[in-house]
Amino acid sequence: MVSIRGAHTVKENTREAILASTKEMLEKIILENNLDISQIISIVFTATKDLTKVYPAVAARELGLKNCSLICCQEMDVEKSLKQCVRVLIHAELPVTQDKVQHVYLGEAKKLRIDITQPLNIAIDGPAGAGKSTIARKLAQTLACIYVDTGAMYRAIGYAMYQEMNDGIYDEDKRHQWIEKELQKVMMRIDYEQGEQQIYVFDENVTLKIRTQMMGHIASLVSAHPKVRQFLLHEQQKLAKAKAVVMDGRDIGTHVLPDAGLKIFLTASAEVRAMRRFKDLEEKGEKPNLQQIQNEIEERDRRDMEREHAPLIQADDAICLDTSNMGINDVVQAIYIKAQELME
Ligand code: C5P
Repeated sequence: MVSIRGAHTVKENTREAILASTKEMLEKIILENNLDISQIISIVFTATKDLTKVYPAVAARELGLKNCSLICCQEMDVEKSLKQCVRVLIHAELPVTQDKVQHVYLGEAKKLRIDITQPLNIAIDGPAGAGKSTIARKLAQTLACIYVDTGAMYRAIGYAMYQEMNDGIYDEDKRHQWIEKELQKVMMRIDYEQGEQQIYVFDENVTLKIRTQMMGHIASLVSAHPKVRQFLLHEQQKLAKAKAVVMDGRDIGTHVLPDAGLKIFLTASAEVRAMRRFKDLEEKGEKPNLQQIQNEIEERDRRDMEREHAPLIQADDAICLDTSNMGINDVVQAIYIKAQELME
């Protein structure tokens, strides 16, 4: 015997809507599990207290489930829990083991079990220097999923362009021409070595070469072109569909993964972000100029926020964390707690 779970939301508290959602869910469970209705032994339905017009079990009877035992209960009214939702727990005699069972979550109820309905996707957006990459990398390690650094993808395209155009890259018309003719030919590949993202352009590993201030500036220029964004969008969505990811960038919560289970917008004052970059560069043995770094950061913020296509803005459903006065581990812990809540 196996047990099968399901849940679906209902558009309005009417008899028709409750029965339609319940039938859709039951039919999908039957189909996905290759069930014969004679194999169903019992079904427990629960409905949230805002659904009052009909017992969901009526839908099962209308589908022809005459011999199994059915009961309807009210779901616990937990604060802030999903509204207008019907849940089921089905017991059935199936010749498979429990781990092969297909649970079905539809409509808004998909959010209840993103761990089984889709890989966990966490979107982290924010301006340069807010701590996104350090935090996203640590969080991915803690959650045992992969970290996707989308900024590296824009940097890699910038790198490929710069190799061919040199300073011509600073001329917008020339960038346009290059994108029209050459972009589709760029062979970019992402790989993971010991859990670390590696990025290749025409088989050259450019992971470290693209980490300079200059490549950051070039990435911000090329990222404003819609064809470049479109080119990378598909690749980014493919990665997140296949695996649980923590993905950081500027438009992840708004454009790339609008259905991400958790969206975080990280920010910090321009002064704090400039000081972080300054210290990073000093540690690398460089002699940076703090004011110049802050000016560059402000210019990059402006370009990222004001561009026409997929500008940097906080998604409506993102949680905003100002990291100006927070340590890295505090931020990771705060996001980790939110991610755990999702998986409960
Ligand atoms: O995050 P990082 O500094 O590596 O990003 C480099 C540039 O790439 C950003 O300033 C931004 O212009 C662009 N970018 C973007 N969308 C993303 C990631 C990065 O436009 N999802």
